[in-house]
Amino acid sequence: MKKCSFCGLEKPDNEIIEGLTGNICYECLETEKESIDAIHLNNMKLLKPHEIKKELDKYVIAQEDAKRKIAVEVYNHYKRISLKSKSVEFPKTNILMVGTSGSGKTYLIQRLSQILNVPLVIGDATEFTEAGYVGKDVETLLSDLIDKADGDISLAEKGIIYIDEIDKICTKNRDIVGKDVGGSGVQNSLLKIIEGMEYSFSKTDEVINTKNILFICGGAFDGLEKIIEKRIHKQKTIGFSSENTELNIEEKNNLFKKVTEEDLLNYGFVREFLGRLPMILSLEKLSEEDLKLILTKPKNAIVKQYTALLKADNVKLKFSKDAIDYIAKKAYEKGTGARALNGIISDKLNELMYEIPMKEDITEYTITKEFLEH
Ligand code: ADP
Repeated sequence: MKKCSFCGLEKPDNEIIEGLTGNICYECLETEKESIDAIHLNNMKLLKPHEIKKELDKYVIAQEDAKRKIAVEVYNHYKRISLKSKSVEFPKTNILMVGTSGSGKTYLIQRLSQILNVPLVIGDATEFTEAGYVGKDVETLLSDLIDKADGDISLAEKGIIYIDEIDKICTKNRDIVGKDVGGSGVQNSLLKIIEGMEYSFSKTDEVINTKNILFICGGAFDGLEKIIEKRIHKQKTIGFSSENTELNIEEKNNLFKKVTEEDLLNYGFVREFLGRLPMILSLEKLSEEDLKLILTKPKNAIVKQYTALLKADNVKLKFSKDAIDYIAKKAYEKGTGARALNGIISDKLNELMYEIPMKEDITEYTITKEFLEH
C-alpha cells in the first residue's frame, strides 16, 4: 500500500504510480489527465527540459549543447522512474562528461541537483579499489547520499552520484595514478553499482537499490584530444586524397565534441563499462570572454558577491571594465578554466576587505586594473 499525494488515500501498489517525491493513484491521474507533469506535482514539480535549461542558464555560462542535452536526459530519467510501475521497462541512461578542468562539469551537476531538488554526492574514481562495490568507498558514497536525502532512502534511490576523475581509472592511465587503482578492475566493479544493485550496509540493516540512481561520470581526459585528432586525420587521409587532411583551428579547439566510443575505448575504457554510460556529453573549453561573463553575469557571480559584501559596510564597490578584462585574462592564462577566477580576486581583494570596514569616510570604491596589478 502507498499513499497518494493528491487524495491522501492509501492505495494498493498496482493502483498507484510512484513519482519523484510523491505518488499518484490512477483515480487522481484520471482527473489530472492534462499531462505527465501532473504526476510529479507534490512538493516539487518536474521541470520540462526547456525549463531546466533556463534555470541552468542563470548560473552556468556557455556549454549550451551540454545544458540542452543534460536537461533532456534528466527529464527523461525522472519520467522513466515515474512510469516504472507501468508495463514498459525503461533502461536508464547514465552520463559521461568529457571536458577540460574548470569547464564546469561538477558545477553543472551541482546546479542540476538543486534545480531538481534531488540529493547529490560527488565521489572520486581514484578512491575506488577493485573491490569497490563491496568495499568502504561505495558504502561511504551511498550513505552520504542517504544523509543528503535526510535519511529518506527512497529519495536517495532517486538521487544523483557524480564520479569525478573517471579518466584516471582508464587502464592506459594506470601508471600515472599508481598504487591502489586497478584500471579495468575498478571499472568492472563500478559497473555493478552503476547498472543497479541492492546494497546492504555492513553496520545497519539498511538496503539501498541503485537501479534508479543517476550516475554521471566526468573527467578532463588529458591526452584524449590527441587520440581523436589522430583518428579524424586518419579518416581524412583514407578518404579523398585531394581533401585537406589538416584540421582547421575550429576543429582543433573543439575536438572533444567529436569524441566517439572508439576513441574512449582507445583511451582505456573497458567496453562494458562504457556501455553503461550511453550518453556522452562534451564540454567546451571556456574562452576568455566566457570567463568575463562568469565573473559578472550569473546570479551568484563573484563580482556580485563582493559588491553585496561591501554593501553591508555601506560601501558601493565597482569593478572597472579593464579590471574584469584583467582578471579574466590572468585566469585564462592559468589554463584551469573558471577555477582560477576566485583565487585571483580573493588574493587581491583581501587587503581591501580588511581596510574598508575601518575607514568610515569611504563610501565608494572602484577596482581598477592598476589596483589589481599591484
Ligand atoms: P570541472 O568539474 O569541470 O573541473 P568545476 O565545475 O569544478 O570544473 O568548476 C570550478 C568552478 O568554476 C565552479 O565551482 C564554478 O564556480 C566555476 N565555473 C566553472 N565553469 C563554469 C561555467 N560554465 N559557468 C559558471 N561558472 C563556472
